[in-house]
Amino acid sequence: MTAHTVELLAIPDPAAGRLHRLRPQFVDPRVERGFQEASLAETRNGILLLAFAGAVAAVVTLYAGWIHLPRDHGAYLLGQSIRGALLLGSCIGVVLALHARRPETLLWTGSVLLAVGCLTLSLRLITPPPADAGLLEALFLLNRDGTTLLLVLAVAVLTLIVGHFLLNALIFASALAGFLAIVNTWPSGVDNTASFSYAFATGFVFVLALGHGIQRIRRHVYVARLQLQQANAQLLEFATRDYLTNCFNRRHFYAVAEKEMERAQRHGSPLSVIVMDLDHFKSVNDRHGHACGDTVLKQMVKVVQNGLRTNDVLARVGGEEFSLLLPETDLEEARVLAERLRSTISATTFRHKGFKLGMSASFGVAERHADDQHINVLLERADKALYAAKNGGRNQVRLASEPPGVSRSSV
Ligand code: GH3
Ligand code: MG
Ligand code: MG
Repeated sequence: MTAHTVELLAIPDPAAGRLHRLRPQFVDPRVERGFQEASLAETRNGILLLAFAGAVAAVVTLYAGWIHLPRDHGAYLLGQSIRGALLLGSCIGVVLALHARRPETLLWTGSVLLAVGCLTLSLRLITPPPADAGLLEALFLLNRDGTTLLLVLAVAVLTLIVGHFLLNALIFASALAGFLAIVNTWPSGVDNTASFSYAFATGFVFVLALGHGIQRIRRHVYVARLQLQQANAQLLEFATRDYLTNCFNRRHFYAVAEKEMERAQRHGSPLSVIVMDLDHFKSVNDRHGHACGDTVLKQMVKVVQNGLRTNDVLARVGGEEFSLLLPETDLEEARVLAERLRSTISATTFRHKGFKLGMSASFGVAERHADDQHINVLLERADKALYAAKNGGRNQVRLASEPPGVSRSSV
């Protein structure tokens, strides 16, 4: 299996995770984590935007408040402190957003920023505009509305990007805290409380509902992407693997062999092939049935695969015929491997439903020559050697370069 396939298959099964009804979170924590990791860059950008918006809003309102607000009551100090906290929090938020590597850190940063932002937003009610509005005052009013707009936008951006229950709870809590602060600290400053509360509440509910809905869509898209990746990985499996034994198929063998031929030619490195055919396999089917033959084939592949290196490619190229592609391997090394496989197979007891049977296989080995242009040339030589091994009595290894009739393995 290629590294690419392994990586795709390692993705957690999306079927194991489902979207919770009330809050957008996957039940399977691995899927949730995968989603958070996948949205890391977007979350980071959202929090950067939020932090910048917060910093701008804080500076503008701090300055405007200092110029315009009456300082003879407690609300002034409270308001300026909260605006200062937003400025400080925004600066820390920018630094964290740029450097945080873990989704949790980003989510917490976003939550805290949002909470302080909401508190600042709610201060609008305890800072009534002066009666004689000049140019700076108009700017101040504009900025207060701009602040509202920026924060609501930022809330929207953040809720679209991250799925954090705590974050939503903090938005409500801070909005509520702000509202209580208005009512308790300066009730006289609140005109038209009912209509403002209504606008405030519907605005937040709208933003949260929008964020929640889009969050769910984003999660469905994420799951669909996971499923597509898995389907592609499965297709890759189907296209390259033999259905019965799960070793590679002829198509994959040729695809890899052509590349390895080119590579060996470029670097002048050795490349060998082994072709292997089970001896008297037809009689296994005839005596014990086709199902027994299938089991033997599967067990055979496992036995052979145990003796291979990761770069070796084992493929089923016919009914009970296998080819082995051995990069960076010369004829002698390939012969040693073939001999080892031969003796392991003949020493293995194959089992099927209580039957125990011994098997043997014959091997033909060939090494790439400098003038070999195509893998077929190499396979033809190995096939001839295999033919010689069969004619020589089976259960043996023959080398392509050797004169017929000479065996270097025990029969
Ligand atoms: P030899 O030693 O000369 O190779 O003899 P053999 O019987 O192995 O060779 P032959 O080519 O005559 O027979 C191969 C048999 O492999 C024929 C076929 O029934 C069987 N076979 C091919 N594919 C499968 C399969 O997928 N499952 C099973 N059970 N048998 C298969
Ligand atoms: Mg055979
Ligand atoms: Mg055969």
